[in-house]
Amino acid sequence: MGLKGKTALITGSTGGIGEAFARAFAAEGCNIVLNGFGEAADIEKLRKDIAKSGTEVVYDAADVGKPADVERMINAALKRFGAVDILINNAVTRHYAPVEAFPVDKWDLALAVNLSAAFHTIRLALPEMKKRNWGRIINMASIHATKLVKDRIDYMTTKAAIVGMTRAVALECSTTGVTCNAIAPGWVLTPHAERQIARQMAEHKQTREDALKTLVDLRQPSRRPIMPAEVAALGVFLCGDGAANITGASVPIDGAWATS
Ligand code: NAD
Repeated sequence: MGLKGKTALITGSTGGIGEAFARAFAAEGCNIVLNGFGEAADIEKLRKDIAKSGTEVVYDAADVGKPADVERMINAALKRFGAVDILINNAVTRHYAPVEAFPVDKWDLALAVNLSAAFHTIRLALPEMKKRNWGRIINMASIHATKLVKDRIDYMTTKAAIVGMTRAVALECSTTGVTCNAIAPGWVLTPHAERQIARQMAEHKQTREDALKTLVDLRQPSRRPIMPAEVAALGVFLCGDGAANITGASVPIDGAWATS
């Protein structure tokens, strides 16, 4: 049946992988709800650019760390489009510190944005999905749901937990037309990765090419970074009819990092 005419809400889609999802689902003919932070003018430019696909693209400024904002955003999307057919929990916050020095407010923020936000979007979008007997939920996990990394207790904890949430929702929906999966990327060439490259260049006096090679070689046996569009293409596949029986999975896209 394809995805034409469905509505996809992607949290944290003002840049990076979320933006790639928005572009890919709009290209499939989906209406899009963009969300995330940024300069109003940049967001409007992005919204207009994606809307060139001919579908309806709206932006909602909800802070997904705030349950009341999430509730308002989902209700607004339901009112406008009738359903959130495709829900992608993608927004993220990150902080780097050892556990004993980890600021309590940063910990609470990570739980709210990386984990509880998905609980709220799912609980609010699911009733209409179940009523229509069709829905696709994708939760963004990470290689670091399983592979260890130092000084990132917020990230490792919330990404492992979102895999658990994915399984719980998949089980509850298993006899319906709603699937719930996680995507676990390795190192994706996003603005976040670009900041790591810039740091590597400054600290080790490397060219961009050498810094990128150093960072990717440390991580991925493929020796290639993952591109945001590749993650988005996997998301589109998981939302297609061919993936109707894939649910409760955490799908890696990591150039063999997880298995190395
Ligand atoms: P990013 O840092 O580029 O973007 C994060 C988005 O979340 C932005 O749009 C930001 O405005 C939004 N956001 C942050 N806090 C928010 C809040 N409170 N309310 C609403 N929006 C908020 O992210 P990215 O690097 O593209 O990663 C996207 C997802 O993929 C994340 O869940 C991340 O954990 C996961 N991931 C990324 C990588 C990678 O290499 N970049 C690897 C594995 C997993």
